[in-house]
Amino acid sequence: MGHNEDELPKARRISQKLGMEFIIKLNRKPLFSPIKDNEFVRRESGIGVATRDEFIDIYREPYSPSCYKFWTTPQINWDGKLLGCGCNIWQDYGNVFKTTLKQCLNHKNFIHTKRVLLGKDSVGKEDPCYRCPKYKDLRRIKLKRRNIVINFAGL
Ligand code: SF4
Repeated sequence: MGHNEDELPKARRISQKLGMEFIIKLNRKPLFSPIKDNEFVRRESGIGVATRDEFIDIYREPYSPSCYKFWTTPQINWDGKLLGCGCNIWQDYGNVFKTTLKQCLNHKNFIHTKRVLLGKDSVGKEDPCYRCPKYKDLRRIKLKRRNIVINFAGL
């Protein structure tokens, strides 16, 4: 964001010092605190882009890290409900406290949502993605298989 873009180099240095991976989060609302120096942010972001629109144009994939969590780090609610991503507040895929995580990951609706994200199934009104604002990008461009490293064998 415009008010803290100058802190990118410092944040990178601190993450390196702490042995942490450095991943930036691009501004979700570009009109709020817009980027002041696009070239600087493109360089310092480490991914060559300054905005989410640029990300989509250059990488030809949606800027939707949350969706990938269905494969990489599925979100589990405090009460054990498997939600898949951090945006899903509409549907769960079973409860890992009542069954097993493996059973929840094999829930037919969980598999269906992954297929929706890849464009293999149509999205239905009952699906969480149908009501999620992030899904508008996915209607244009689907997730890329190459970014899905875990659990993909299930599809
Ligand atoms: S589009 Fe679907 S998977 Fe992606 S963040 Fe929204 S609810 Fe989650």
